[in-house]
Amino acid sequence: MNANIDVEIFDTTLRDGEQTPGVGFSIPDKVKLALRLAEAGVDVIEAGFPVNSAEELESVRQIAQAVSSPICGLARVVSSDIAACIDCGVDMIHVFAPTSEVQMAHAVHTTPAKIIERTRRAIERVKEAGLLCMYSPMDATRTDPDFLLEICQVAGEAGADWLNLPDTVGVSTPHSIAEMVRRVRRQVQTPISIHCHNDFGLAVANSLAAVEAGATMVQVSVNGIGERAGNASLEQTALGLKCLYKAKIALKTEKLYGISRLVERMTGIPTPPSQPVIGANAFSHESGIHAAGVLEESSTFEPGIMTPEMVGHRRRLVIGKHTGKHSVQLGLEEAGLHPTDEELSEIVRRVKSLGGKGKHVTHSDLFTIAESVMADLPPSQRAIVLDQIVVTTGNRATPTASVVARVNGEARTEAQLGVGPVDAALRAVQRILGSSPQIEITDFHLDAISGGSDAVANVSITVEDEAGRRSSSQAAHEDIVIASVEALIAAINQLLRVRAHAQERAGEPAAQVVS
Ligand code: MN
Repeated sequence: MNANIDVEIFDTTLRDGEQTPGVGFSIPDKVKLALRLAEAGVDVIEAGFPVNSAEELESVRQIAQAVSSPICGLARVVSSDIAACIDCGVDMIHVFAPTSEVQMAHAVHTTPAKIIERTRRAIERVKEAGLLCMYSPMDATRTDPDFLLEICQVAGEAGADWLNLPDTVGVSTPHSIAEMVRRVRRQVQTPISIHCHNDFGLAVANSLAAVEAGATMVQVSVNGIGERAGNASLEQTALGLKCLYKAKIALKTEKLYGISRLVERMTGIPTPPSQPVIGANAFSHESGIHAAGVLEESSTFEPGIMTPEMVGHRRRLVIGKHTGKHSVQLGLEEAGLHPTDEELSEIVRRVKSLGGKGKHVTHSDLFTIAESVMADLPPSQRAIVLDQIVVTTGNRATPTASVVARVNGEARTEAQLGVGPVDAALRAVQRILGSSPQIEITDFHLDAISGGSDAVANVSITVEDEAGRRSSSQAAHEDIVIASVEALIAAINQLLRVRAHAQERAGEPAAQVVS
């Protein structure tokens, strides 16, 4: 492709993304996300479909007021839709009309001639209002190629600033979408945007192929959320453009990890660990050979052209069945432990054996093993020692937990409310630390080990501090609250130990060992 081509990023998380089955953002969440996207340098933010509901209109209006970056509103080729967008104070209106035979016949029961006429009038109306106009022939990839050219020409003549070609149901291939973009470009001067869906897992590949064929804007969503299997993901498309195609994009890619986590929390849709760019494993290594390699030179077993720093992520070495000496040694050194060669071999043997039994090896497991293997280790310092916990709950009571614990030797008491007893207990434990350090629970898993009401609850918790350091722990108990609290305290103690040691040294470690 043309190296150094400028590609604009059009984010539709708040519009197509919100059409994800089961997802709905509150207005404050929408404004917050729009501000974050603008701060990251997204070129256009599609804020919503104002005519859809009063709430939707209000959210688009608030976003247009709060955010200085270009804001786009969606509209059918209908004057009341366009009026609603104008009313919101948007900078760009994205008008769309179905152009495939199946959609013209069954979605809107109309004819090509009427679609052409409405398209022309809608675009003229947007331009008369002095706003930018994007036009989408919906279902472009299933539209008769000659009719597609005709309608694109009409849109261009009517004054559209952008022609967006949607692969509405995700049936393109990289080859076919590139062909479509080339055909339209030969006929029409208007810049081309591309909007791909992921029904066959090709949304990002198709978007990149379209850019290669001459599209200069990509429509994407954070974490790839959207209708059905979703849209092309912002993270993957942006990094593909930047690293593989050397395209110029305005996006500050180092903001991506934080934005992805924000959307994960807002939608409640967890990101799979193997998700490219922003998944927990995107820059993680467990195998001994890989870990040793990346410790010496990160590009040995990573793309190299894309680094965790570029996307605001972290490189992590995971302890488990495939671990080698390097990761274990580094993990222990992070907490100030320096085993001899013999001790290290024994610790690695036990870690691998634990992992080999199918057990997830946590950070706490590693240190428990190290403590039992290393002979001259002083008794471990635990920052938090639990004395007492009391939880009340019931159908007419707000779950409340009070905790008495010693924190660095000082007795403290804290009480908190929660949505349930576990939530109340975990909040109380977190509060007992005070306001600093900021330790967040990033992962909480609960399993019942055996059946029946006396089943043992097995809780695993991962915590993370403001510098992105992580620690995980597990605890099993017949009482679900106690299991949760024990796992949390063990994880926090481990993290505090690593923090304390990090403060003694200058600079941050290049990689952090977690489990
Ligand atoms: Mn779509």
